[in-house]
Parts: sequence; C-alpha cells; structure tokens
Amino acid sequence: MDFNDSPEEAAYRKKVQDFLKANAAPKEATTASRSRNRPEAEVLVDAKAWQKKKMQNGFAQITWPKEWGGPGGTPMQQVIYGQEESGYDVDGSFFGIGLGMCVPTVMAYADDETCKRFVGPALQGDEIWCQLFSEPAAGSDVAGLITKAVKDGDEWVINGQKVWTSGAHYCDFGIVLVRTDPGVAKHKGLTMFWVDMKDPGIDVRPLHQMSGGSNFNEVYFTDVRVKDTQRLGDVGQGWKVALTTLMNERLAVGQAGGADFKDLIELAKSTELENGPAIKDGAVREKIADWYAKAQGLKYTRYRTVSAMSQGETPGPENSITKVVSASRLQDLTSFAMDLMDMGGIMVNPDDVGYEAAFQEGYMWAPGIRIAGGTDEILRNIIAERVLGMPQDVRVDKGVPFNEIPK
Ligand SMILES: Cc1cc2nc3c(=O)[nH]c(=O)nc-3n(C[C@H](O)[C@H](O)[C@H](O)COP(=O)(O)OP(=O)(O)OC[C@H]3O[C@@H](n4cnc5c(N)ncnc54)[C@H](O)[C@@H]3O)c2cc1C
Repeated sequence: MDFNDSPEEAAYRKKVQDFLKANAAPKEATTASRSRNRPEAEVLVDAKAWQKKKMQNGFAQITWPKEWGGPGGTPMQQVIYGQEESGYDVDGSFFGIGLGMCVPTVMAYADDETCKRFVGPALQGDEIWCQLFSEPAAGSDVAGLITKAVKDGDEWVINGQKVWTSGAHYCDFGIVLVRTDPGVAKHKGLTMFWVDMKDPGIDVRPLHQMSGGSNFNEVYFTDVRVKDTQRLGDVGQGWKVALTTLMNERLAVGQAGGADFKDLIELAKSTELENGPAIKDGAVREKIADWYAKAQGLKYTRYRTVSAMSQGETPGPENSITKVVSASRLQDLTSFAMDLMDMGGIMVNPDDVGYEAAFQEGYMWAPGIRIAGGTDEILRNIIAERVLGMPQDVRVDKGVPFNEIPK
C-alpha cells in the first residue's frame, strides 16, 4: 500500500487536526492522562461531553450511515481520526464496547423503530451499552452458557449470571446472550435480547481488580422479564447474532496501548546500573531493540488491516495477531522496566514514582488484555486454523444436544 495520504486524506487529516487543536488538550507525555487518579464518575462526565462534541462535529463513529445520524465517512477517515486523536488527552473508553460492538449488532438485527430509539442517544454519548456474554463457566466457550430465557406469552423470563461485564455499573442498556433451547446442539439453542440495565431483577455487582479499579461486574438476572420485541434476530439464531458482535470485537480490541519502547529508552537513560547508565548496557540495549522490532512488525500488520479496509474488505482472522503479540509484549516490557526501577518498581502511586506509574499500570493491565476478546490460546487456535489452515482443535461436544453434554 501507499503509506502517504492521498490529497483527499491529507485534507481530511487537516480538518481533524484543526478540530482537535481547537477542542482538546494534547497529551503531555505518551502515558500521561488527566483521567488518572480521578473518580470514575467525574471522568465519565468529561467523556460524555467529548463524545457529544465529536458527534456534533461529524467525528463520532465516522463510518456509520447518515441514515442513523453517523457522518457516513470511510474506514480510512476513521483510521486518520484515530491516529490524530491518540495524541490528545480525551477518553473514549466508556463507549468502545457499546459503539464498537453492541449498537452495530442492534443496527444489524433490530427494526427501524428500535434503531431510531437507540442509535442517536448512543452516538451522542447519552446512553452507554454493555456486552453480557461471558459466564463463570462460559468464556472461551461462550456457546456453553447456561443463563436461560423461558417464553411466557409475549415476554421472556431470564434467569442466570453473567461475569466480567465491562462497565455494567454505569451502562444504561446491554445485549444479553441466553439459552432458549437446551435440547439442541449448544450453538443452536441460543437467542439474543437487548435489556434495560435498570430493569427489576438485574443486579450489578462490581469486581475489584489488583490495579485498584473496578471496571468489571458480575450481573445477576432473577426473573427479568423482557418483551419478545426486544429479541435481536430469530429464536435459536443467537450464535449468528453474537458473531456480528464478535466480528466487531475483533476490530475494537486491537493493539494493547500503554508504555512502549520510547518510555523504556527514557527510563534506561536516567537509570544508573553498577557499570554505568542502563542505556549503555548490552543486555538492556538488546531488549529495547527486540521490542522496537516488534513495534515495527505490529505497525505494518496494522497497515495490512487498514489497507484491507480501504479496499472495502472486512479484516479477517489475521487481525488476531496484533493482540496476541502486543499484549504479551506489553507485559514483558513493563516487567523489565519495573526491574530496572529496582525498589521503585513495586510502587504504584503515580505521585511517588516516575513515568506516572505507567509501567506498573501496564504490567497490571496486560494479563487482562491477554484474556479479553479471546485469550492468547484461543487466538492462536484461530490463527492456526483459519490463517495457516492447520487441523481443527478437538471439539468433542460438536453436534451433541446441550443438555446431554456432561457438566
Ligand atoms: C479486560 C476484560 C474485559 C472483559 N469484558 C467482557 C465484557 O464486557 N463482556 C463479556 O461478556 N465478557 C467480558 N470479558 C470476559 C472474556 O471474554 C473472557 O474472560 C474470555 O473469553 C476467557 O474466558 P474465561 O475467563 O472464562 O476463561 P476460560 O475460557 O475458562 O479459559 C481458561 C484458560 O483455558 C484456556 N483455554 C480455554 N479453551 C481452550 C482451548 N480450546 N484451547 C486451548 N486453551 C484453552 C484459555 O486460554 C485460558 O488460559 C472480559 C475479560 C477481560 C479480561
């Protein structure tokens, strides 16, 4: 591909740069952020205001059709916007799952009236959505879930438990995958619904993380009644609907961000080892060179995705490579940096350590990134089977009715 902007792309980039310069503050350092150490509720207010501003200026969900309030732009424009916005201190993380995965699923399967009701408020940042798929015994094998919905007249009654639901504690709506027929093979007895997170019977319980935050939740459903009109797709077609969400997840969960080799170079320059500055040490230099080489590999792999998108193609399973490589690289790089920081490596308060504790934060986030949106092992299976054409993983429950699978 040609890595330079076409004249149209350069003009669009200038428009984006002007908008960002006029409305947002640049990041002071690669890793610094105004969000750090502020209460989540406060950060959320700022994030909603920023989402609204983006919407009003035609920069929210750039590829969404005009019909639903989107700007109707191209994937390349979306990429350009993302590249430019990443240099600014703004927070879009609250909307990633909703706008990147849940609302596109609603747009693909709900009727016009439902879309009209939900798409606008989501784009404006007024309403946030969560994804209720994983359960305590169904994560990688999400089709093995047991939360059930039973039909009662024009309604369905949902009972069960979800887990790891990102943002459920501040979300307004969610899409929930449930079992409606345990008598058929596991992928065939599932159905998807949208739910109002304030409905009686939905109990959201935050989980506390080692990093100090609480981004995920257990969500309990006790006799939650939803209307049949809240169904997304046909009864028993939930897996097909979930694949729409998961395809979007593959795009949304891209590269692990956070501290990188540039931060490590700065740290190595300012760290004294027994034999002189760390930046002069052969072992340290070798590590930095290795992570630099991986950064270049990731950059060009990403360009491959951008190139496919600019030609109207949907990125395929090879997109999994980015997360597999970048998440474990983040974990290795931050672990090495914390060792270099000696005693300072175990301190986590940004006010007490250098680099805004970005290495510590990256180290504690990396294991989660290696799990979210498909674990390393599952993504390696995908790469092996669908990119390299190797034989399929063993699937002993294939075609077996769900209620006959030993539990
Ligand atoms: C940061 C984060 C955010 C998340 N957000 C959400 C959310 O918003 N909504 C939601 O529904 N879920 C969410 N999840 C859940 C996530 O999708 C699951 O954690 C993930 O799919 C793994 O499932 P599990 O935790 O049940 O692990 P398991 O599936 O039980 O896996 C346990 C171990 O076994 C390995 N393993 C499993 N199957 C195979 C196999 N076939 N071959 C080889 N190894 C295998 C796995 O790789 C892993 O190491 C989130 C998770 C994280 C960490």
